[in-house]
Amino acid sequence: MKLILLGAPGAGKGTVAKLLTKLDGSVQISTGDILRGAVQAGTELGKQAEDYMKRGDLVPDELIMGIMESRLQEPDCEKGFLLDGFPRTIPQAEALKELLQKLGIKLDMAVNIDVPREVILDRLTTRRTCSNPECQAIYNVKSNPPKKEGVCDKCGSPVIQRDDETVEAINHRLETYNEKTAPLIGFYEKEGLLVTVNATSSEDVIAAIKEKLGQ
Ligand code: AMP
Repeated sequence: MKLILLGAPGAGKGTVAKLLTKLDGSVQISTGDILRGAVQAGTELGKQAEDYMKRGDLVPDELIMGIMESRLQEPDCEKGFLLDGFPRTIPQAEALKELLQKLGIKLDMAVNIDVPREVILDRLTTRRTCSNPECQAIYNVKSNPPKKEGVCDKCGSPVIQRDDETVEAINHRLETYNEKTAPLIGFYEKEGLLVTVNATSSEDVIAAIKEKLGQ
């Protein structure tokens, strides 16, 4: 399947994408994961992105399109892909449309995961992430803590609170979402690709996506 996952930070895009990869071998492409990996590895991309990310601002569109143009042409994308956290602005959505046309790729749909703000705030402040850039497993101190406190179940690396998950940065990310990313809902509606799912559990979101795909 070839999907865009839209939704505010904390809507569950990453969790849903990970579950969907198990259905048909489609790959999850998270620009946030790619950028965090680059920051930790200290690459040129990481250095350019780091300050924006810490503040909860978006990284410039040119940097993101550079990443995505090569990522979408890697062979593992042939089976399908789940775009998680990309596109995030209208110029990114327009550039993606052009890129997909050039590559002869057709999207199945853009899924807008619509979750109430109180749920989002609660999730983001209690979310913890594995610090290993190769893993980046997601936990929640209330609903899904690691078996051993502070240690990733999957790879044994420390589980941390992200720099951009302080209350201040979270509020800023949500404002950025409303201003820059929410307009994509209208964009994909016009493209005839939008599917909105109002569900807080990832299983319900998966069930709705499967139904829409006719699976
Ligand atoms: P995420 O893990 O998707 O919440 O992304 C974490 C941070 O990475 C965001 O707050 C942005 O600073 C940056 N980022 C991720 N994806 C994008 C994107 N498509 N465009 C611009 N910045 C992005």
